[in-house]
Amino acid sequence: MSIKENILYFDQQLRQTPCRLVAVSKTHPVERIQEAYDAGHRIFGENKVQELVDKYAQLPHDINWHLIGHLQTNKVKYIAEFIDTIQSVDSLKLLIEINKRAEMFGRTLPINCMLQIAIADEETKYGMSCEEAEALLASEEYRQMKHISITGVMGIATNTDNESQLRQEFQNLRSCFDRLKSTYFFASDYFKEISMGMTSDWALAVAEGSTMIRVGSGIFGARDYSKT
Ligand SMILES: *Cc1c(COP(=O)(O)O)cnc(C)c1O
Repeated sequence: MSIKENILYFDQQLRQTPCRLVAVSKTHPVERIQEAYDAGHRIFGENKVQELVDKYAQLPHDINWHLIGHLQTNKVKYIAEFIDTIQSVDSLKLLIEINKRAEMFGRTLPINCMLQIAIADEETKYGMSCEEAEALLASEEYRQMKHISITGVMGIATNTDNESQLRQEFQNLRSCFDRLKSTYFFASDYFKEISMGMTSDWALAVAEGSTMIRVGSGIFGARDYSKT
């Protein structure tokens, strides 16, 4: 299927749900991203800062860019002017830097941030525990921030085809969301996103309450890492 057909397929699949699609375009050239854009899609995800900066410069500026990969504090400055959402916030230190850079660029809109929660059984995956996320939200530093908006949580499930394990991990992320919502955001409409689900497990994630799936190969085809 073409990129356009894939975009239309996901639009159709998600029509009856509150869930939106982030088209994960990492490793794919701007021409292929433009195809998805021409099919009407506007939310794209990248996992590397340099690649994102290069693509941002070459593509229409009404794209909503989401950073979904690990972000080093010293690289926030390269994306702070234009980024819509940073899904991979995994420490207070990083959030402090994001807030600072958003202020320096004089953005009219805050940078949307999502707290990345570790839900997989693999120790290598980045992310905080739900307790660490709570401690971040309880901190005085966080309460002073005026240039970021925490819009939800993000998680990467274990790379497995074990359906019950995947469901459990998605449920864990959802209950973390519920916990943070009821304690810190009960009156805040903007805290509403649960970003979970990728090409292989998006349908399960939607069934478990995902509001944002991140699909790469299911739209753009297999990635060729030798070109990056
Ligand atoms: C690459 C990536 C995806 C998309 O993976 P696919 O299996 O190609 O859909 C989703 N989320 C994150 C964080 C990624 O790095």
